[in-house]
Amino acid sequence: GLEGRWLMRAAAIGPATSVVQLSDRTAEHAAERMRVDFVANASHELRTPLASILGYVETLQDAAGEEPALRNRFLGIVFDEARRMERLVEDLMSLSRIEADKFRLPSTRVDLAASAREVCATLATTHGDRGRDIVLDVAADVPEVTGDAAQLSQLLHNLVGNAMKYGRAGTPVRVSLTPREGLACLVVADQGDGIAADHLPRLTERFYRVDAGRSRSLGGTGLGLAIVKHIVERHRGRLDIASEPGVGTRVTVALPAAAAPAVIKA
Ligand code: ADP
Repeated sequence: GLEGRWLMRAAAIGPATSVVQLSDRTAEHAAERMRVDFVANASHELRTPLASILGYVETLQDAAGEEPALRNRFLGIVFDEARRMERLVEDLMSLSRIEADKFRLPSTRVDLAASAREVCATLATTHGDRGRDIVLDVAADVPEVTGDAAQLSQLLHNLVGNAMKYGRAGTPVRVSLTPREGLACLVVADQGDGIAADHLPRLTERFYRVDAGRSRSLGGTGLGLAIVKHIVERHRGRLDIASEPGVGTRVTVALPAAAAPAVIKA
């Protein structure tokens, strides 16, 4: 872990401990900075819908509450904003749970194919209004993985959900599962917005969005890919996002197969 690296460094640099201390401090400051930013971002994201709810409720208590058409419209907005807060709180709780479990290796065998079928079926119905098809391709010999079933299902949900959100209407979302040298390999591909290269390295940061307005109007919290990254890390897997603006995005997650050496070693 971190401690090991820090000790090795101190030994390599020798008596000039001030240099070592400096880099240690910098890392500490960066982590503290991230925590502060995270709390500020989360508070801001919660305050916006909350302000809107309070404003509409106040208006409803006045004259607008007596006008049925207006009342229903305002109640609709209050409901949508409350739902947005609910999604955000759920995602924040997921993140903190996954982080708390970071050092506990998941231990059940998970059939990713079954999980993918379930998630795709759910999303095909909930996003059906946008006229999108999900094409699921499962190879015959996909290995099971050692994992946390609920988290892997959430990973699938977030990735396929993004492909549905940011893919162009009328184009299919393609999900595939294939075996690859001791790994189960998941690919989720869409034809849509795509992402410019300079954004790619930051996509898994909490609350990082290419277009915040578009993400919000599609019901996004800005936490989906941060959650995916944490789940992949906890499963000792690899996450790769490839994209071309205006063409589409392809997300690959490779997870060690159950009983493969990689799992035992980790
Ligand atoms: P959000 O809730 O905003 O979708 P995510 O963490 O899931 O948050 O994704 C972060 C950002 O990455 C999104 O706001 C969007 O700009 C971009 N993004 C994620 N997936 C895709 C995709 N499949 N196609 C295009 N852009 C994407």
